Amino acid sequence: MNIHEYQAKEILRDAGVKVPRGKLALAADEAVEEAQSLGGDVWVVKAQIHAGGRGKAGGVRICKSLDEVKAAAEALLGSVLVTKQTGDAGKEVGKVYVEEGLDIASEFYLSLLVDREAECVSFVVSPAGGMDIEEVAATQPEKIKTFPVRDIKTADFSELAAFLGLSGDAVVQCDALARQLYQVFITNDAAMLELNPLVLTGAGDLVALDAKFVADDNALYRQEAIVAMRDLSEEDPREIEAAQFGLNYIQLDGNIGCMVNGAGLAMATMDMIHMKGEEPANFLDVGGGVTVPAVTEAFKLLFSDKHVKAVLVNIFGGIVRCDIIALGLLEAIKTHPMNVPVVMRLVGTNEQAGQALVKDAGLDVYWADDLDEAASIAVKVISE
Ligand code: GDP
Ligand code: MG
Repeated sequence: MNIHEYQAKEILRDAGVKVPRGKLALAADEAVEEAQSLGGDVWVVKAQIHAGGRGKAGGVRICKSLDEVKAAAEALLGSVLVTKQTGDAGKEVGKVYVEEGLDIASEFYLSLLVDREAECVSFVVSPAGGMDIEEVAATQPEKIKTFPVRDIKTADFSELAAFLGLSGDAVVQCDALARQLYQVFITNDAAMLELNPLVLTGAGDLVALDAKFVADDNALYRQEAIVAMRDLSEEDPREIEAAQFGLNYIQLDGNIGCMVNGAGLAMATMDMIHMKGEEPANFLDVGGGVTVPAVTEAFKLLFSDKHVKAVLVNIFGGIVRCDIIALGLLEAIKTHPMNVPVVMRLVGTNEQAGQALVKDAGLDVYWADDLDEAASIAVKVISE
């Protein structure tokens, strides 16, 4: 789960990390009032959306007067911001964050993540921080370095500070910052915490200028404060709907809609589609104890997705009964007609009953005996 930049900065501020002073605004007049209350003569108005790349897309505006603050907030609020990370549809801006402007001497990249290979939390840092870290990763990978932290008590961040090119008091600040960030990461069960940029100001302070916090969904049950920061308007409505029915659904970019039971089988199905030259439109694991209403919902999600050009059903029924899948399909088509080809591999528990239900209803689906065949058919029908 993601939270907004202003929320991540609240968490950081509470932990003692230096962040610019800022206020949230939902309207342009409010933005001006907040800028006034912050004081100073330079402000930054930042669109609050769950996506990065705002700077390059005009979502971060430096303002040298209150009139400029007003104009920036007016332009951003209610607009749809399309950044590298939002996809073509973009994201509507409902809130802006007004911050005091800082005098920036250098910009760095610094993030913490769960490093599965090193089996610990690692810091990933770069002296070439700012807006183009993806570009740095692609063209100058030597400018990005990973520092695993196996034991925070004995951790030494002097190499990390040296890699960033810090000296003097900034090295001391960097050590304190790294420890604070580590604590934030652990106590809030983060999956990722990213400061891009972390800046050194003209006055010599290390400040988190941007902040992204991704929570570990598996730990949300014990992170009430984080859950309270959830902004459903930022999340994919299809994923929210699917979650309400206990479906594990993730929207992807391809054209073949998938319905599968079991996460492993779902992964294998996606791999098979990819190997045959197409891409899945989604990950969908209906789970074990699935009910007819949930299957119905799953088919509705697939049939109403305009990117879906064919549906591949890959059910290997163990706990899942094939007749439940079939009944869900019959229920779904009452309101969501089957206007794309459907390929069915429906085997396992109650397979005869399930297949019979579909056949008796006169549905024109492609039948396959195994995944390989099913994927081949799905890939073939969408190219016809
Ligand atoms: P992102 O593009 O969505 O990652 O948004 P960021 O919060 O990282 O802001 C993008 C860029 O705006 C930063 O890399 C800075 O160069 C610039 N920026 C943000 N705040 C300030 C500020 O207070 N002063 C100045 N001079 N630049 C800023
Ligand atoms: Mg940034």
